[in-house]
Amino acid sequence: MNSRRQFIKNIASASVTFCSCCLLDTVQAQTPPTKQPFISHQHPLLGKKHAPVFIDGKKIPVIDTHTHCFFKEAVDLAGNGSVLFPVRSGPQKFSPDDTDQVIQQRIENMDAKGVDMEVLSVNAFWYGKDRALASQIIEVNNRNLAAICAKHPTRFSAFGSITTQFPDLAIDQLETIMKNPSFKGVAVMASVLGTDFSDPQFHPIWAKAEALGAIIFIHPENIPMGNRFKGSGWMPNSIGNPLETTIALQHLIFEGVLDKFPRLKILAAHGGGFLPTYANRMDHACFIFPGGCDPQLTLQKKPSEYLRQIYFDALVFTPEALTQLVSQVGASQVMVGTDSPIPWEEFPIEHIMKTPLSNQDKAAILGLNAMKLMNITAV
Ligand SMILES: [Zn+2]
Repeated sequence: MNSRRQFIKNIASASVTFCSCCLLDTVQAQTPPTKQPFISHQHPLLGKKHAPVFIDGKKIPVIDTHTHCFFKEAVDLAGNGSVLFPVRSGPQKFSPDDTDQVIQQRIENMDAKGVDMEVLSVNAFWYGKDRALASQIIEVNNRNLAAICAKHPTRFSAFGSITTQFPDLAIDQLETIMKNPSFKGVAVMASVLGTDFSDPQFHPIWAKAEALGAIIFIHPENIPMGNRFKGSGWMPNSIGNPLETTIALQHLIFEGVLDKFPRLKILAAHGGGFLPTYANRMDHACFIFPGGCDPQLTLQKKPSEYLRQIYFDALVFTPEALTQLVSQVGASQVMVGTDSPIPWEEFPIEHIMKTPLSNQDKAAILGLNAMKLMNITAV
């Protein structure tokens, strides 16, 4: 198995499919950079249907909790340059169109990966817009998300959009969104233009989300991070995105937000960034340097223990990393996430099946956790 073609052939022919994600990563890392504005891509097995997953004789639904889309009407409202950038598989498939053909392509892509349901979300591009425009964009997003879910109720559900920068509006939007069972919560960035979610101005949103049982899907997005993030390697994303999520979660933990809203359901993208791989450092911080911690705040448990009340996607690339994530946060807290249609993880089932986790844990991560958390009954 020394070529991408042979690798893919092996995947296609295997009845129980395990993949060498490391090999695939190596091949992708060797792909020469391109300066084309739009980089086409299709799943290597597009046109084929992945075999259903059976574990201990039971068919396990595969639910992808981290997927993206944009709608042309909303992007147009935001104005030129608000959204598009030339990521692989980006514009031609997930941006700005919601035609039946685009949705059908998306379903074929899901079939190739073995994903039964995607939870759609729109990365926020309206945090800098005024109340009227941001509200309009939100309305367009949520209307279109609802329409796709209504048309394909067993293939799509969604995290809605809210104007997080205007908490009073966001609360109303949350209420409206959660009246539709296709919506499982809302997607937010990792801060509002640099203001962290621990800021009291956002607490009414978390209170409402907690009351409604709405999941808050935290997804970072290329915030400018200064000169050291310039240079080759797409560092604002490769390092910056996981770092943003790490900072967001750290604030929520250390500033007592998770104590204040203990039933708040937070889902962190990209395996929670760097936090779960180094969580225990948090437990020593205030002991080593008390001056760096607020004496008015007494947390109810060790900082690292809060990770067991947060949910994480499994987008950490290797079975070893996924096993470590599960050991830190618990199998009940991890769910499939691929970033679809961006091809960060093209073999989500194999990614999980190749771990040494128990069958019960694998089934939970593939779909049973998501079904329970999101009240999904038909897949
Ligand atoms: Zn993403």
